[in-house]
Amino acid sequence: MANNEELFKKIIAHAKEYGFVFPSSEIYDGLSAAYDYGQYGVELKNNIRNYWWKSMVQHHENIVGLDAAIFMHPTVWKASGHVDAFNDPMIDNKDSKKRYRADVLVEDHIVKIEGKIAKEVEKAAKRFGEAFNEKQYISTNPRVVEYQQQIDDIKHRLYPAMEENRLDDINKLIEDLGIVCPISGSKNWTEVRQFNLMFSTQMGSLSEDTNQIFLRPETAQGIFVNYLNIQKTGRMKIPFGIAQTGKAFRNEIVARQFIFRMREFEQMEMQFFVKPGEELKWFEYWKQERMKWHLGMGIPETEYRFHEHDKLAHYANAAFDIEFNFPIGFKELEGIHSRTDFDLASHQKYSGKKIQYFDPELNESYVPYVVETSIGLDRTFLAVMSYAYHDEKLEDGSDRVVMMIPPFLAPIKAAVLPLVKKDGLPEKALEIFDKLKYDYMCFYEEKDSIGKRYRRQDAIGTPYCITVDHQTLQDNTVTIRERDTMKQERIGIEKISEIISNRLKSNK
Ligand code: ATP
Repeated sequence: MANNEELFKKIIAHAKEYGFVFPSSEIYDGLSAAYDYGQYGVELKNNIRNYWWKSMVQHHENIVGLDAAIFMHPTVWKASGHVDAFNDPMIDNKDSKKRYRADVLVEDHIVKIEGKIAKEVEKAAKRFGEAFNEKQYISTNPRVVEYQQQIDDIKHRLYPAMEENRLDDINKLIEDLGIVCPISGSKNWTEVRQFNLMFSTQMGSLSEDTNQIFLRPETAQGIFVNYLNIQKTGRMKIPFGIAQTGKAFRNEIVARQFIFRMREFEQMEMQFFVKPGEELKWFEYWKQERMKWHLGMGIPETEYRFHEHDKLAHYANAAFDIEFNFPIGFKELEGIHSRTDFDLASHQKYSGKKIQYFDPELNESYVPYVVETSIGLDRTFLAVMSYAYHDEKLEDGSDRVVMMIPPFLAPIKAAVLPLVKKDGLPEKALEIFDKLKYDYMCFYEEKDSIGKRYRRQDAIGTPYCITVDHQTLQDNTVTIRERDTMKQERIGIEKISEIISNRLKSNK
C-alpha cells in the first residue's frame, strides 16, 4: 500500500458515498480541514473509541477516565508552553500563493534523497543477487554514503534551528537546498515566520482583553490540571494513569489530507504518572502495549512501524511515534512521549499550588514524571478505512468494493433482509431484527434486489447478511452470508447470535 494517490482518492470518495465522512457544511462548499462523520462513520468512530477506552480504563486497575472541559483558564496554556512555543514555521510561495510549513518542505527534500538511496540499493540488490549484503552496501558505497551525509547535514542544520527559533537559518537552508514550490516550481519565497497553531476566542464581554481564551490544542492539559483532584478523590497510588478522549483544535498551516490533518479533531490520550527515574522503563512498557493495541485490531504488523523523534518537543526526554502505512505513505498515527515533570512542575509554579505525590514507601513527596500515549481518533479511523478498502474483481467478471473492517469495529454487525417484500417475509425478518438489536447494531432493509442489498452491506463493511425466504416460514432457517468470502450457509435462527458473537471475539 505504498504512496498511492489514486487509492487515497477512492477511499475519500467511498467514505462520502456510503455515509462515513462528509466535508463540513458541504452545501456551502465545505470548510477547509473540517469534516462530519455520517451514519456509518459515527458508528465506526464510536467503536474505535470504545476499543481504546476499554483497553485503557476497563482493563487496567490503575487507570481511570476523565472528561475535562474544552475551555480552560488561559494561564494553562502559558504554563504548558503553548502560548510561547506551539508554533510552526511557515513560508509562502509568492507565485503560487501556496503556504507551506518550512520544516516540512525541508523534510520532503530529505525524503527525496532517501528515495535516491533506495533506488541505488534496489539496483545493487538486482546486480549482486543472493550475495547482496544491504547493510554493508549502505555503509560503503560512495554514492550512498554521500547521500546519507547530505541527509545528516540537513538534519543537523534544521532541527537545532527549529529548536532555537533561528528562522533566518531555516530561510538559508531552503535557499541552499534550492527547494522549489511543488505547484509553481519557483524559488520565489517569503521569509519564514512563526505561526501559533492555537485558535483563540473571547469569553464574556468583548471589551476586556484579559478574557481571551483558547480552544485546547491537546486534551493532555485537562488531565494535568486534574491530577490532584483525581489522585486524592480516587486515592490513586503511583504508578497510575488518567485517560481522556475529546476534541482538540489546531490552526494547521497545511491541511490538505482529508481526515489525516484536520483543524478540529479528536484525540485519545493517557497520561501515566510514575516515580522520577522510572519513566524510561514505563516508556518502553507503553511503547510495546500500544503497538499490541494496534495489532489487536487484526491489522498486520507490516502496516505499522516505530519512528524515533529526531527533534524532541519542549517537554520530552524520549519520544517515539507509531506510524501507519497510509495510502499517502508511512505517517504518524500515535505518539508515545516521556514528558518528564515538565507539565506538573510548570502548573505548580504558575498556580502556586503544590502538585505532588506523597510516596509512603520513600516517606517523601515529589512531582511525578509522566509517560503519555497520544493517538488521533480520526487518523485511526483513516487507518482502518485504508486497510479495509478492497476493490475486487469477481469470478463472474463483476466488481465489488468491500470494506473488510475488523468485525468488532464494523458499523453494522448484521443486516436482516427479507428476500421479497411480501408473503409475510418482512414480518418474519423484523421479528429476527427485534431479537438481535439489543445485542448488536443491526440493519433492516427490504428495497431492491437481494444482490444489490448485499453489495451495499459489503460497501459499509457489514460482516453478516441474514436473508429470510419462504423456507424460513416453514422451518425457521435463514441464509447467512459472510462478507469477505461471500459464502452462504443455511442455519437455524437460534444459531445467528452465536455466530455473530464468535466472529466479534476473533477480531478477524
Ligand atoms: P504531526 O507531526 O502529524 O502534526 P503531532 O506530532 O503534532 O502530529 P501530537 O501533538 O503528538 O501530533 O498529537 C498526538 C496525535 O494526535 C497524533 O499522533 C495524531 O494522531 C493526532 N493529531 C495531531 N494533529 C492532528 C490533526 N491536525 N488532525 C488529525 N489528527 C491529529
